[in-house]
Amino acid sequence: MKSLEQIVNECKELAFDLHFTRAKEWKAEQEGRVVVGYMPIYFPREIIHAANGLAVGIMGGGDRKQIIKGDAYYQSYICHIPRSILELVLDGHTEHFDGYIFPSICDVIRNLSGIFKQQKIGKFVKYMDFPQNFLPEIGGVFYQQEMEHVLRYIKEINGVEVTPERLNHSIGLYNRNRQMIEFIYDIRQDFPWRLSIEDVYHIIRAGMVIPVEEHNALLEQVCAHIAKPIGVPQDKIKIVVSGAFCEQPAVGLIRAIEQAGCYVVDDDYMLGSRMIEGDIDTTTDRPLEAISTAYINQSRYSSCIYDVSNPKEFRLAKIVKDRGADGVIFASASFCDPSLLDAPIFQNAFNKMGIRYIAFQYSENINQFKVIKEQVGTFSDSIKLWEDEPVVTINA
Ligand code: SF4
Repeated sequence: MKSLEQIVNECKELAFDLHFTRAKEWKAEQEGRVVVGYMPIYFPREIIHAANGLAVGIMGGGDRKQIIKGDAYYQSYICHIPRSILELVLDGHTEHFDGYIFPSICDVIRNLSGIFKQQKIGKFVKYMDFPQNFLPEIGGVFYQQEMEHVLRYIKEINGVEVTPERLNHSIGLYNRNRQMIEFIYDIRQDFPWRLSIEDVYHIIRAGMVIPVEEHNALLEQVCAHIAKPIGVPQDKIKIVVSGAFCEQPAVGLIRAIEQAGCYVVDDDYMLGSRMIEGDIDTTTDRPLEAISTAYINQSRYSSCIYDVSNPKEFRLAKIVKDRGADGVIFASASFCDPSLLDAPIFQNAFNKMGIRYIAFQYSENINQFKVIKEQVGTFSDSIKLWEDEPVVTINA
């Protein structure tokens, strides 16, 4: 078994390999394999796996890619991630990708799919709508049709007919993946010093660019390591990070939050890998229906899911309670409409519930966050000093 340090270092390299080298190697190993890029947040990777493909998450270039061409396509007053995705693609980082999927998150991602089509990038470009109607016979059926559409695109490339057996096998692999990721979060809930959130971030993000079998093998070892009593506890409060689900903060900012006195015991950084809570049924002869049913009944709260009958402020409050967190940090990418429009809803509800929070904005390419670090440090100190007083700080 590799040491925890070895695994984390391996994942660090994989997570930020902006040339997606492992996907390229994997495709070259066997005839008929396809690589499909998907944008944040969530996509049912199982269906690509079952079609002899590898779904690769494209999360932007962060602070590691200078933007030149990408800026020419977008106005200044939107978020940063579409520019860096375009820059990666136009610079040839994804030449080995066969197609691209744009899950419906917001207008920015919809427009990005239009630019891909206009520029004739890839063999197919699919803007994939997710159901906003949570009735299985309406939204559920619609979602299955969307998945079938994706499978038709792939069949045109490699001729693979996806059978229920293949799909159930793929779903089982991703079920195992989600189980182990949740095990890591459950361990960190009580023993967050065993593995920093920065390391967790790298480990999960690596899983977006390598085959699930390889990621599962890494996760098995991580789980074995952190099941043991390692590390030394520090005097930090526990917090939940919410709002950073699409454009990712620079790793330095993820690290700074913990360095400033907070253990992050839950977050939505890599929401797509954790979107489905619990297992998807692998025993049915209608696995697409099982995936859609899981999305309808088992998806996490998200600013991109319009589920009026299941208010997200109560869902986030439940996470805070279940994790034993002392407060919430609302971290939103600048100009991220879904996150910023939801923030007042959460904050008004939390004022009434007495849940403490702070809020700030970031951009994936900004690596200076001294002010945010001071703000987080003050938040942590104020909770430690005045445990029973409500603390509300907003820096919009
Ligand atoms: S960061 Fe927000 S606004 Fe930008 S693409 Fe993602 S969800 Fe849309």
